[in-house]
Amino acid sequence: MRLSKEPLFTAKVIQRRVKELADEITRDYGQQELVVLVTLKGAIMFAADLCRALSLPVHLDFVRAKSYRGTLTTGTVEIKVHPEVSLAGKHVLVVEDILDTGNTVAALFDRLSADNPASLTLCTLFDKPSRREIPVPKSYVGFTIDDHFVVGYGLDYEERYRELPAVYTLDGNPE
Ligand code: 5GP
Ligand code: MG
Repeated sequence: MRLSKEPLFTAKVIQRRVKELADEITRDYGQQELVVLVTLKGAIMFAADLCRALSLPVHLDFVRAKSYRGTLTTGTVEIKVHPEVSLAGKHVLVVEDILDTGNTVAALFDRLSADNPASLTLCTLFDKPSRREIPVPKSYVGFTIDDHFVVGYGLDYEERYRELPAVYTLDGNPE
């Protein structure tokens, strides 16, 4: 596995898009408090930049979901870290690194909606719609990409590359 020579998205391009997303979210929610639920670990860089660009009151919390693939029940997802805050009656924005088949988000939304939030919305940095197996509600999307495996800016391959400020593709087959 090798990193692409050139980034797919430079740090500058990412930062510009994150600011646009934050402005859009700020406009949409007005001054309502927003519970920002960051999915560990891949979304932490994105969420850190996004939150600092929002102009509304933020309650930050974390969730970690582990999905198991290849089982009969698609979307078998174990929630490893639960949000500490009660979501009842709150506007909740789930911040994800990348939306692929949609199974993780679908299962996560299933669980989180059981807490009766006032609203539950996804903000994902990347979306790979060509890989979708399960429909996902309308979301804030940073970049729509083709079927590449991407790393950097929080996203890993076997825990490597999360620290890179830009996003690269991996050449070769990661799976
Ligand atoms: P889904 O359930 O939507 O198929 O899985 C989404 C999860 O798979 C993401 O949150 C991420 O952890 C992982 N994933 C999917 N595509 C990529 C990719 O291109 N790069 C990295 N680093 N992780 C990915
Ligand atoms: Mg993830």
